[in-house]
Amino acid sequence: MIIEENSVGIMKSKQKLPQLVLFNTETRSKEPLIPLKNNHISMYTCGPTVYDYAHIGNFRTYMFEDILRRTIKFLGMEITQVMNITDVDDKTIRGATKKGISLDEYTKPFLDAFFDDLDALNIERVEYYPAATDYIPQMIKMIEVLLEKGFAYKGKDGSVYYNIQKFPRYGCLSHLKLDELKTGASERVATDEYDKEHVADFVLWKAYDPERDGTIYWESPFGQGRPGWHMECSAMATEILGETLDIHVGGVDNLFPHHENEIAQSEACSGKQFSKMWLHSEHLLVDSKKMSKSLGNFYTFRDLINKGYTAKQVRYMLLQTHYKTQLNFTLPGLEGAKGSLDRIQNFVERLQGIPETVQTGCHPEKFQAYLDGAFNFFAQSLADDLNISVALSAVFDLIRDINALCDSQEISYAQAQEVLELMAQFDTVLGVISFELEEEYPKEVLQLVEQRQQARQSKDWGLADQIRDAIHEHGYTVEDTPTGPRLHKQ
Ligand code: AMP
Ligand code: ZN
Repeated sequence: MIIEENSVGIMKSKQKLPQLVLFNTETRSKEPLIPLKNNHISMYTCGPTVYDYAHIGNFRTYMFEDILRRTIKFLGMEITQVMNITDVDDKTIRGATKKGISLDEYTKPFLDAFFDDLDALNIERVEYYPAATDYIPQMIKMIEVLLEKGFAYKGKDGSVYYNIQKFPRYGCLSHLKLDELKTGASERVATDEYDKEHVADFVLWKAYDPERDGTIYWESPFGQGRPGWHMECSAMATEILGETLDIHVGGVDNLFPHHENEIAQSEACSGKQFSKMWLHSEHLLVDSKKMSKSLGNFYTFRDLINKGYTAKQVRYMLLQTHYKTQLNFTLPGLEGAKGSLDRIQNFVERLQGIPETVQTGCHPEKFQAYLDGAFNFFAQSLADDLNISVALSAVFDLIRDINALCDSQEISYAQAQEVLELMAQFDTVLGVISFELEEEYPKEVLQLVEQRQQARQSKDWGLADQIRDAIHEHGYTVEDTPTGPRLHKQ
C-alpha cells in the first residue's frame, strides 16, 4: 500500500488516490485533470442571473458543480473556485426599470434567497462570488484591448461588437464550422442570449437607451452603456483566476453562445488558451421539457420544502443522477430519493447505537477488506468522470455487508467507529448524512434568533446583520434554511 502525502483520515492514508478523469466538452473526450499549478485547481462556474428566484433546475447545475468541487478535494487536490453573480444583463435591467428601483434594490432579495438555498442544500461556499457590477472597469479594459487588436468594432447604434470572423477558433467549443455559416455570421446580435441559428457578431458594450434602460448605465470611452453578459464572465474569470483556468463549468445551455463567446474574448485578449477543460451538465426536465421560468413548469426549492421534504432529501435527489444524463423530475422520484437517504441515515444511526461495551467483532482482515473495497470502489467511480451512481452503489454495498455483521452481532464498538469514519469521508462528497443529534441552545441565543427573524421579516437587513453578529459573539453561527434558521456551534 502507498502512503498519500496530501491525504487525511484513516482510509485515505492507506490507499492510493486515483487520477480524476473528466469529459472535456471541447475535445469530446475524457482527459486526466492535471493541475496547471502544483496541486491546485482553478475553476470558474457561471452563476445565477439574479432577476428572479432560482428553481431546482438551476440547483441541479450548482449541485453538479458542488460534487465536482468536493470530489477534487476528496481526491487530494486543492481548489480556488469562482462563481459569478450576474446582476446586470437584459433581464435584471428590464426588471429594475419596470419597478422604477435601482439595480441593487431589485437584485438583493434574489441574491439573498440564492445564498439561503445554497446553504440549505449544503452546497459548499466557494472562494469568490464576484458581482458583475463590481468589475465594470475590468470589462471596459478588455473591450479596449479587443478594439486595439482589431477584434472589435463600434456599430452604428453606438454599441461595440466582436467580429467573430477575426477569430479563427470561433466555434471550437460548440463544434460549429464558421466557414459554413459565413453568410449568417455577417449579422449582429445585441441581445445577451441567442441560439445556434443566429451565429453572429455579438455585443461587448451595449449602448445606453434611456427608454429601455431607465437610469441604468455606466460611463466608458465608448459612450454610456453597459457590458454584454459574455464579457462579464471573461473579465471576472481573468481578473480573479488568471488568463488560463484549469476548468470552466456551466449548464449545457451556457455552451453556446455564452462559453463560445467567452473563449473568443479572453483568448483574443491574452493570446493564451482560456480554459484547459470545459464541463457541461445536462438539464433537469419536467415531462421531457427543460424546467424553466418561461415554460412555467418549475418548482423552487421552497416549493418542495413546503411539501414536507427536507433539504437533504432534495440534495440527494439532485446528486444521484450522473451530470451528463438528463434528470426527469417527478415527485415519486423524490420519494425514491427519500427512501434511499433514509437507508443511509438509519445505517449511520444503527452504528452510533452500538455501545462501547461491545468488544468482540468480525475478523480484522475480513473487516478491513469491506472497508478497503468500499473506499476504492467509491473513489475510483468518482474519479471516472464523477460516476456518482456507481459510487453510491459502493456505499449501499457497504451498508448491506455491515448490516449483515450487525444482524449477527459480529461488529465491535471500535469497528463501528471505523465504519462511521468511512461514512463521514464519503459524506465529504455527498453532504447528505446527519452525524449529530440536535443540540441544546442557550435561551438568550434563541431569543436573538427570534429577534433576527422579525428583523428579516420587516426587511431590516441592517438590524438582522447586527443580531447575526451578536449571535456570533455568543459562539454560534446562524444558517438560514427554508425550514427556518438553524444554529451551529462555532
Ligand atoms: P440563469 O440564472 O438562467 O443564468 O441560469 C443559471 C444556471 O442554471 C445556468 O448554469 C443554467 O445552465 C442552469 N439551468 C437553467 N435551467 C436549468 C435546468 N432546467 N436544469 C439544469 N440547469 C439549468
Ligand atoms: Zn458565464
